Amino acid sequence: MESKKLLSKQVSPCGVNCMICMANLRTKNKCPGCRFDDSNKPKSCSECLIKNCKTFKESNKKYCYQCEMYPCKLINHIDKRYKTNYAFSMIENLQLIKDKGIREFMKIENEKWICKKCGGIISVHRGFCTDCGEVYYQHNGTNRKPIK
Ligand SMILES: [Zn+2]
Repeated sequence: MESKKLLSKQVSPCGVNCMICMANLRTKNKCPGCRFDDSNKPKSCSECLIKNCKTFKESNKKYCYQCEMYPCKLINHIDKRYKTNYAFSMIENLQLIKDKGIREFMKIENEKWICKKCGGIISVHRGFCTDCGEVYYQHNGTNRKPIK
């Protein structure tokens, strides 16, 4: 089994690995990732308020938690939305990166998002492996709950 691997260069400023995002996983209208620019980027990605945050850009930092404004309204808002819809927290991820470092974080991420069955990537938005369809997270009302 050839396992895919999440890369640290794909971790966005707000702490999401773009490789688990449907905008990157899909083949049509694909986004190369927050840190990679492409004039054909989907609107939701090119117009992301966090990606375009002036304070963060001017801070010359790598991740939001290093910014003087952290935790700001923008990160709190997206964190709340993702917690509710996908049982996923940017703030928890950023805390892990801060506490353990990006290398250790990547180990945890690869454990979490690589399919145990086929080595494909599990989508944070869909909750299943985008290669074999194995379900890892399931909708329960508005919340996704881990099923394993
Ligand atoms: Zn799979």
